[in-house]
Amino acid sequence: MTTAPDAAALLDAAASIVIKVGSALLVDDAHTLRRDWLGTLCADIARLQVRGARVTVVSSGAVALGAQDVGQPRGASALAIKQAAAAAGQVALAQAWRSALSDAGCGSAQVLLTPQDTEHRRRHLNARATLDALAAARIVPVINENDTVATEELRYGDNDRLAARVAQMIGADLLVLLSDVDGLYAADPATHPDAAHIAHVTDIDDAIDAIAGESSSAHGTGGMRSKIAAARLATGAGAAVVIASGREPAPIGVLAKGARATSFDAATTVPDARRRWIRASLRQAAAVIVDAGAASALAQGASLLPVGVVDIEGDFERGDCIAIRGQSNNAELGIGLAGLDSVAARDAMAAAKDGARTVPLVHRDDLVLENPKTHE
Ligand code: GLU
Repeated sequence: MTTAPDAAALLDAAASIVIKVGSALLVDDAHTLRRDWLGTLCADIARLQVRGARVTVVSSGAVALGAQDVGQPRGASALAIKQAAAAAGQVALAQAWRSALSDAGCGSAQVLLTPQDTEHRRRHLNARATLDALAAARIVPVINENDTVATEELRYGDNDRLAARVAQMIGADLLVLLSDVDGLYAADPATHPDAAHIAHVTDIDDAIDAIAGESSSAHGTGGMRSKIAAARLATGAGAAVVIASGREPAPIGVLAKGARATSFDAATTVPDARRRWIRASLRQAAAVIVDAGAASALAQGASLLPVGVVDIEGDFERGDCIAIRGQSNNAELGIGLAGLDSVAARDAMAAAKDGARTVPLVHRDDLVLENPKTHE
Protein backbone atom coordinates (compact mmCIF):
# COMPACT_ATOMS: atom_id res chain seq x y z
CA MET A 1 0.00 0.00 0.00
CA THR A 2 1.43 3.30 -1.00
CA THR A 3 0.07 6.78 -0.43
CA ALA A 4 -0.89 9.90 -2.31
CA PRO A 5 2.37 10.70 -4.16
CA ASP A 6 1.33 7.89 -6.48
CA ALA A 7 -1.12 10.17 -8.21
CA ALA A 8 1.57 12.83 -8.52
CA ALA A 9 4.00 10.32 -9.98
CA LEU A 10 1.41 9.09 -12.47
CA LEU A 11 0.72 12.65 -13.53
CA ASP A 12 4.40 13.30 -13.96
CA ALA A 13 4.98 10.22 -16.10
CA ALA A 14 1.88 10.23 -18.29
CA ALA A 15 2.24 11.01 -21.98
CA SER A 16 -1.48 11.14 -22.75
CA ILE A 17 -3.89 12.33 -20.08
CA VAL A 18 -7.68 12.53 -20.14
CA ILE A 19 -9.05 14.97 -17.57
CA LYS A 20 -12.74 14.69 -16.72
CA VAL A 21 -14.33 17.72 -15.10
CA GLY A 22 -17.65 17.35 -13.31
CA SER A 23 -20.51 19.87 -13.39
CA ALA A 24 -20.23 20.62 -9.67
CA LEU A 25 -16.77 22.06 -10.26
CA LEU A 26 -17.61 24.18 -13.26
CA VAL A 27 -20.95 25.58 -12.25
CA ASP A 28 -21.90 26.94 -8.82
CA ASP A 29 -25.25 26.58 -7.07
CA ALA A 30 -26.57 29.71 -8.80
CA HIS A 31 -25.83 28.06 -12.19
CA THR A 32 -22.98 30.48 -12.79
CA LEU A 33 -19.81 29.36 -14.46
CA ARG A 34 -16.75 29.38 -12.17
CA ARG A 35 -14.55 31.27 -14.61
CA ASP A 36 -11.64 32.00 -12.30
CA TRP A 37 -11.36 28.38 -11.30
CA LEU A 38 -11.56 27.28 -14.94
CA GLY A 39 -8.75 29.72 -15.74
CA THR A 40 -6.50 28.03 -13.19
CA LEU A 41 -7.30 24.57 -14.53
CA CYS A 42 -6.49 25.72 -18.07
CA ALA A 43 -3.15 27.09 -16.85
CA ASP A 44 -2.51 23.58 -15.42
CA ILE A 45 -3.38 22.07 -18.79
CA ALA A 46 -1.03 24.46 -20.56
CA ARG A 47 1.79 23.38 -18.23
CA LEU A 48 1.12 19.71 -19.04
CA GLN A 49 1.24 20.54 -22.74
CA VAL A 50 4.50 22.44 -22.35
CA ARG A 51 6.13 19.36 -20.81
CA GLY A 52 4.97 17.43 -23.90
CA ALA A 53 1.86 15.67 -22.60
CA ARG A 54 -1.21 15.19 -24.74
CA VAL A 55 -4.24 16.50 -22.88
CA THR A 56 -7.85 15.66 -23.66
CA VAL A 57 -10.68 17.17 -21.64
CA VAL A 58 -14.08 15.62 -20.98
CA SER A 59 -16.32 18.32 -19.55
CA SER A 60 -19.78 18.19 -18.06
CA GLY A 61 -21.78 21.29 -17.27
CA ALA A 62 -23.99 21.79 -20.32
CA VAL A 63 -27.25 20.88 -18.58
CA ALA A 64 -26.39 22.91 -15.47
CA LEU A 65 -25.42 25.96 -17.53
CA GLY A 66 -28.42 25.85 -19.84
CA ALA A 67 -31.09 25.07 -17.25
CA GLN A 68 -32.00 28.67 -16.52
CA ASP A 69 -32.14 29.68 -20.19
CA VAL A 70 -34.65 26.97 -20.92
CA GLY A 71 -36.73 27.09 -17.75
CA GLN A 72 -39.72 24.75 -17.63
CA PRO A 73 -41.59 25.24 -20.93
CA ARG A 74 -45.14 23.90 -20.76
CA GLY A 75 -45.88 20.65 -22.55
CA ALA A 76 -42.25 19.60 -22.88
CA SER A 77 -41.20 16.29 -21.36
CA ALA A 78 -38.56 16.19 -18.65
CA LEU A 79 -36.18 14.59 -21.14
CA ALA A 80 -36.82 17.27 -23.77
CA ILE A 81 -36.23 20.01 -21.20
CA LYS A 82 -32.95 18.41 -20.15
CA GLN A 83 -31.85 18.01 -23.75
CA ALA A 84 -32.84 21.59 -24.55
CA ALA A 85 -30.84 22.76 -21.52
CA ALA A 86 -27.87 20.77 -22.77
CA ALA A 87 -28.21 22.37 -26.21
CA ALA A 88 -28.29 25.88 -24.77
CA GLY A 89 -25.66 25.21 -22.14
CA GLN A 90 -23.20 23.50 -24.47
CA VAL A 91 -22.65 26.77 -26.34
CA ALA A 92 -21.80 28.56 -23.11
CA LEU A 93 -19.63 25.65 -21.99
CA ALA A 94 -17.64 25.55 -25.20
CA GLN A 95 -17.22 29.33 -25.18
CA ALA A 96 -15.96 29.25 -21.61
CA TRP A 97 -13.40 26.54 -22.35
CA ARG A 98 -12.28 28.24 -25.54
CA SER A 99 -11.71 31.54 -23.84
CA ALA A 100 -9.98 30.05 -20.77
CA LEU A 101 -7.77 27.76 -22.85
CA SER A 102 -6.90 30.60 -25.18
CA ASP A 103 -5.90 32.80 -22.21
CA ALA A 104 -3.61 29.95 -21.15
CA GLY A 105 -2.11 29.83 -24.64
CA CYS A 106 -3.85 26.64 -25.81
CA GLY A 107 -6.04 25.95 -28.82
CA SER A 108 -9.39 24.26 -28.23
CA ALA A 109 -11.99 22.24 -30.11
CA GLN A 110 -15.43 20.95 -29.23
CA VAL A 111 -16.16 17.26 -29.76
CA LEU A 112 -19.61 15.82 -29.00
CA LEU A 113 -19.84 12.03 -28.89
CA THR A 114 -22.53 9.39 -28.58
CA PRO A 115 -21.89 5.78 -27.52
CA GLN A 116 -21.99 4.60 -31.13
CA ASP A 117 -18.94 6.75 -31.80
CA THR A 118 -16.77 4.84 -29.38
CA GLU A 119 -18.43 1.42 -29.61
CA HIS A 120 -18.86 1.04 -33.35
CA ARG A 121 -15.50 0.30 -34.91
CA ARG A 122 -15.80 2.49 -38.00
CA ARG A 123 -17.00 5.52 -36.07
CA HIS A 124 -14.43 4.74 -33.40
CA LEU A 125 -11.68 4.98 -36.02
CA ASN A 126 -13.11 8.26 -37.31
CA ALA A 127 -13.41 9.81 -33.87
CA ARG A 128 -9.93 8.60 -32.94
CA ALA A 129 -8.44 10.03 -36.13
CA THR A 130 -10.08 13.39 -35.37
CA LEU A 131 -8.73 13.42 -31.82
CA ASP A 132 -5.27 12.37 -33.07
CA ALA A 133 -5.29 15.18 -35.63
CA LEU A 134 -6.25 17.69 -32.94
CA ALA A 135 -3.44 16.38 -30.73
CA ALA A 136 -0.96 16.71 -33.59
CA ALA A 137 -2.07 20.33 -33.93
CA ARG A 138 -1.58 20.79 -30.15
CA ILE A 139 -5.27 21.61 -29.78
CA VAL A 140 -7.08 20.52 -26.61
CA PRO A 141 -10.33 18.69 -27.43
CA VAL A 142 -13.15 19.48 -25.01
CA ILE A 143 -15.48 16.51 -25.19
CA ASN A 144 -19.02 16.07 -23.93
CA GLU A 145 -21.80 13.66 -24.65
CA ASN A 146 -24.01 14.79 -27.52
CA ASP A 147 -26.87 15.12 -25.07
CA THR A 148 -29.37 16.55 -27.53
CA VAL A 149 -29.50 13.40 -29.66
CA ALA A 150 -28.62 10.76 -27.08
CA THR A 151 -31.68 8.82 -25.99
CA GLU A 152 -32.14 7.43 -22.52
CA GLU A 153 -31.51 3.87 -23.70
CA LEU A 154 -28.43 4.83 -25.63
CA ARG A 155 -26.40 7.19 -23.54
CA TYR A 156 -23.13 7.00 -21.72
CA GLY A 157 -25.33 8.39 -18.99
CA ASP A 158 -22.52 10.04 -17.14
CA ASN A 159 -19.31 11.61 -18.24
CA ASP A 160 -17.17 9.31 -16.07
CA ARG A 161 -18.01 6.50 -18.45
CA LEU A 162 -17.58 8.72 -21.50
CA ALA A 163 -14.15 9.78 -20.22
CA ALA A 164 -13.13 6.14 -19.76
CA ARG A 165 -14.23 5.33 -23.32
CA VAL A 166 -12.27 8.30 -24.63
CA ALA A 167 -9.18 7.14 -22.70
CA GLN A 168 -9.60 3.70 -24.26
CA MET A 169 -10.12 5.11 -27.74
CA ILE A 170 -6.99 7.26 -27.79
CA GLY A 171 -4.84 4.82 -25.79
CA ALA A 172 -4.31 7.33 -22.96
CA ASP A 173 -2.08 6.23 -20.11
CA LEU A 174 -3.85 8.27 -17.44
CA LEU A 175 -7.45 9.24 -16.71
CA VAL A 176 -8.00 11.89 -14.02
CA LEU A 177 -11.57 12.15 -12.72
CA LEU A 178 -11.91 15.54 -11.07
CA SER A 179 -14.96 15.95 -8.88
CA ASP A 180 -15.96 17.18 -5.45
CA VAL A 181 -14.47 14.18 -3.62
CA ASP A 182 -10.80 13.48 -3.03
CA GLY A 183 -11.08 9.79 -3.75
CA LEU A 184 -12.44 6.60 -2.32
CA TYR A 185 -13.09 5.92 1.36
CA ALA A 186 -13.48 2.60 3.15
CA ALA A 187 -17.07 3.65 3.98
CA ASP A 188 -19.30 6.51 2.91
CA PRO A 189 -17.74 9.61 4.53
CA ALA A 190 -21.18 11.25 4.63
CA THR A 191 -22.34 8.68 7.18
CA HIS A 192 -18.92 7.57 8.52
CA PRO A 193 -16.86 10.73 9.05
CA ASP A 194 -13.92 8.65 10.34
CA ALA A 195 -13.82 6.38 7.31
CA ALA A 196 -10.28 5.70 6.10
CA HIS A 197 -9.19 7.22 2.82
CA ILE A 198 -7.88 4.71 0.26
CA ALA A 199 -4.89 6.12 -1.59
CA HIS A 200 -4.09 3.27 -3.92
CA VAL A 201 -6.09 0.49 -5.53
CA THR A 202 -4.15 -2.22 -7.31
CA ASP A 203 -7.18 -4.26 -8.33
CA ILE A 204 -10.86 -3.30 -8.51
CA ASP A 205 -12.24 -6.31 -6.69
CA ASP A 206 -15.58 -7.06 -5.00
CA ALA A 207 -14.54 -5.21 -1.87
CA ILE A 208 -13.98 -2.01 -3.85
CA ASP A 209 -17.30 -2.49 -5.63
CA ALA A 210 -19.05 -2.90 -2.30
CA ILE A 211 -17.53 0.33 -0.97
CA ALA A 212 -18.49 2.23 -4.11
CA GLY A 213 -22.02 0.85 -4.04
CA GLU A 214 -22.46 1.99 -0.48
CA SER A 215 -21.31 5.55 -1.08
CA SER A 216 -23.01 6.08 -4.42
CA SER A 217 -25.73 8.37 -3.16
CA ALA A 218 -23.43 10.79 -1.44
CA HIS A 219 -21.33 12.22 -4.20
CA GLY A 220 -22.89 14.37 -6.89
CA THR A 221 -24.17 13.39 -10.31
CA GLY A 222 -21.89 10.52 -11.22
CA GLY A 223 -21.46 9.15 -7.73
CA MET A 224 -18.65 6.88 -6.66
CA ARG A 225 -20.24 3.85 -8.29
CA SER A 226 -20.00 5.42 -11.72
CA LYS A 227 -16.42 6.50 -11.03
CA ILE A 228 -15.43 2.96 -10.09
CA ALA A 229 -17.20 1.61 -13.20
CA ALA A 230 -15.24 4.13 -15.27
CA ALA A 231 -12.03 3.18 -13.48
CA ARG A 232 -12.67 -0.47 -14.29
CA LEU A 233 -13.17 0.33 -17.98
CA ALA A 234 -10.13 2.57 -18.22
CA THR A 235 -7.75 0.36 -16.22
CA GLY A 236 -8.88 -2.57 -18.39
CA ALA A 237 -7.85 -0.50 -21.41
CA GLY A 238 -4.37 0.08 -20.02
CA ALA A 239 -4.77 3.50 -18.37
CA ALA A 240 -4.06 4.32 -14.75
CA VAL A 241 -6.89 6.26 -13.10
CA VAL A 242 -6.86 8.98 -10.46
CA ILE A 243 -9.97 10.15 -8.61
CA ALA A 244 -9.20 13.57 -7.15
CA SER A 245 -10.89 16.64 -5.82
CA GLY A 246 -11.03 19.55 -8.20
CA ARG A 247 -12.30 22.00 -5.62
CA GLU A 248 -9.07 23.95 -5.21
CA PRO A 249 -7.83 26.36 -7.85
CA ALA A 250 -5.22 24.75 -10.15
CA PRO A 251 -6.38 21.24 -9.19
CA ILE A 252 -3.84 19.45 -11.37
CA GLY A 253 -1.01 21.46 -9.88
CA VAL A 254 -2.34 20.64 -6.42
CA LEU A 255 -2.44 16.95 -7.34
CA ALA A 256 1.10 17.10 -8.70
CA LYS A 257 2.22 18.44 -5.32
CA GLY A 258 0.81 15.37 -3.59
CA ALA A 259 -2.79 16.22 -2.68
CA ARG A 260 -4.88 13.37 -1.36
CA ALA A 261 -6.43 11.26 -4.12
CA THR A 262 -7.09 7.64 -5.03
CA SER A 263 -5.01 6.10 -7.79
CA PHE A 264 -5.83 2.87 -9.58
CA ASP A 265 -3.18 0.79 -11.35
CA ALA A 266 -3.67 -0.04 -15.00
CA ALA A 267 -4.80 -3.66 -15.28
CA THR A 268 -3.02 -4.25 -18.58
CA THR A 269 -0.98 -2.40 -21.18
CA VAL A 270 -2.56 -0.25 -23.86
CA PRO A 271 -1.27 -2.49 -26.73
CA ASP A 272 -2.53 -5.68 -25.02
CA ALA A 273 -5.95 -4.17 -24.38
CA ARG A 274 -6.17 -3.00 -27.97
CA ARG A 275 -5.21 -6.43 -29.29
CA ARG A 276 -7.95 -8.01 -27.19
CA TRP A 277 -10.45 -5.47 -28.48
CA ILE A 278 -9.49 -6.18 -32.10
CA ARG A 279 -9.63 -9.96 -31.56
CA ALA A 280 -13.16 -9.53 -30.23
CA SER A 281 -14.27 -8.10 -33.60
CA LEU A 282 -16.55 -10.00 -35.90
CA ARG A 283 -14.32 -10.98 -38.82
CA GLN A 284 -15.31 -10.24 -42.38
CA ALA A 285 -14.75 -12.82 -45.12
CA ALA A 286 -12.18 -10.56 -46.68
CA ALA A 287 -8.41 -10.52 -46.84
CA VAL A 288 -5.51 -8.49 -48.11
CA ILE A 289 -2.53 -10.34 -49.54
CA VAL A 290 0.80 -8.67 -48.89
CA ASP A 291 4.26 -9.04 -50.43
CA ALA A 292 7.36 -10.15 -48.54
CA GLY A 293 8.54 -6.58 -47.99
CA ALA A 294 5.26 -5.60 -46.36
CA ALA A 295 5.23 -8.82 -44.29
CA SER A 296 8.61 -8.01 -42.85
CA ALA A 297 7.68 -4.35 -42.30
CA LEU A 298 4.59 -5.49 -40.36
CA ALA A 299 6.76 -7.75 -38.23
CA GLN A 300 8.90 -4.70 -37.41
CA GLY A 301 5.83 -2.85 -36.16
CA ALA A 302 4.95 -0.80 -39.25
CA SER A 303 1.48 0.00 -40.55
CA LEU A 304 0.27 -1.85 -43.64
CA LEU A 305 0.63 0.48 -46.62
CA PRO A 306 -1.25 -0.06 -49.89
CA VAL A 307 2.08 -0.24 -51.73
CA GLY A 308 2.78 -3.62 -50.10
CA VAL A 309 -0.61 -5.11 -51.00
CA VAL A 310 -0.70 -7.42 -54.01
CA ASP A 311 -4.34 -8.46 -53.88
CA ILE A 312 -7.59 -7.78 -52.04
CA GLU A 313 -10.16 -10.56 -51.64
CA GLY A 314 -13.76 -9.70 -50.81
CA ASP A 315 -15.32 -6.44 -49.76
CA PHE A 316 -15.20 -4.57 -46.48
CA GLU A 317 -16.01 -1.27 -44.85
CA ARG A 318 -13.64 1.00 -42.97
CA GLY A 319 -13.36 -0.36 -39.43
CA ASP A 320 -14.10 -3.97 -40.44
CA CYS A 321 -11.80 -6.68 -39.17
CA ILE A 322 -10.02 -8.39 -42.06
CA ALA A 323 -7.33 -11.04 -42.50
CA ILE A 324 -3.82 -10.26 -43.69
CA ARG A 325 -2.13 -13.06 -45.62
CA GLY A 326 1.38 -13.49 -46.99
CA GLN A 327 1.85 -13.81 -50.74
CA SER A 328 4.51 -16.54 -50.53
CA ASN A 329 2.51 -19.34 -48.86
CA ASN A 330 -0.87 -17.67 -48.31
CA ALA A 331 -0.41 -18.08 -44.55
CA GLU A 332 -2.37 -15.76 -42.29
CA LEU A 333 -0.01 -13.19 -40.81
CA GLY A 334 -2.62 -11.58 -38.63
CA ILE A 335 -5.79 -9.55 -38.56
CA GLY A 336 -6.48 -5.85 -38.48
CA LEU A 337 -9.12 -3.15 -38.69
CA ALA A 338 -9.30 -1.72 -42.20
CA GLY A 339 -8.54 1.99 -42.33
CA LEU A 340 -10.13 2.20 -45.79
CA ASP A 341 -13.12 0.46 -47.33
CA SER A 342 -12.34 -2.10 -50.03
CA VAL A 343 -13.14 0.27 -52.92
CA ALA A 344 -10.82 2.95 -51.56
CA ALA A 345 -8.25 0.27 -50.73
CA ARG A 346 -8.18 -0.98 -54.35
CA ASP A 347 -7.88 2.61 -55.57
CA ALA A 348 -5.05 3.22 -53.12
CA MET A 349 -3.27 0.05 -54.31
CA ALA A 350 -3.40 1.34 -57.87
CA ALA A 351 -2.32 4.83 -56.86
CA ALA A 352 0.58 3.42 -54.82
CA LYS A 353 1.79 1.50 -57.89
CA ASP A 354 1.98 4.86 -59.66
CA GLY A 355 4.15 6.17 -56.85
CA ALA A 356 1.48 8.19 -55.01
CA ARG A 357 1.70 8.56 -51.23
CA THR A 358 -1.24 6.83 -49.59
CA VAL A 359 -2.66 6.47 -46.10
CA PRO A 360 -2.21 3.10 -44.33
CA LEU A 361 -4.66 0.36 -45.19
CA VAL A 362 -4.30 -0.93 -41.64
CA HIS A 363 -2.76 1.32 -38.99
CA ARG A 364 -0.13 -0.30 -36.77
CA ASP A 365 -2.32 0.29 -33.72
CA ASP A 366 -5.12 -1.69 -35.37
CA LEU A 367 -3.08 -4.80 -36.17
CA VAL A 368 -2.81 -8.11 -34.36
CA LEU A 369 -0.04 -10.29 -35.77
CA GLU A 370 -0.02 -14.09 -35.47
CA ASN A 371 3.63 -14.34 -34.53
CA PRO A 372 4.77 -10.92 -33.49
CA LYS A 373 8.53 -10.69 -33.45
CA THR A 374 9.47 -7.17 -32.60
CA HIS A 375 6.04 -5.75 -33.06
CA GLU A 376 5.34 -2.80 -30.72
N1 GLU B 1 -23.37 15.65 -20.34
C1 GLU B 1 -23.93 16.24 -19.16
C2 GLU B 1 -23.73 17.75 -19.17
O1 GLU B 1 -22.88 18.27 -19.85
C3 GLU B 1 -23.30 15.76 -17.90
C4 GLU B 1 -23.27 14.31 -17.61
C5 GLU B 1 -22.53 14.06 -16.29
O2 GLU B 1 -22.55 14.90 -15.41
O3 GLU B 1 -21.90 13.02 -16.12
O4 GLU B 1 -24.41 18.44 -18.45
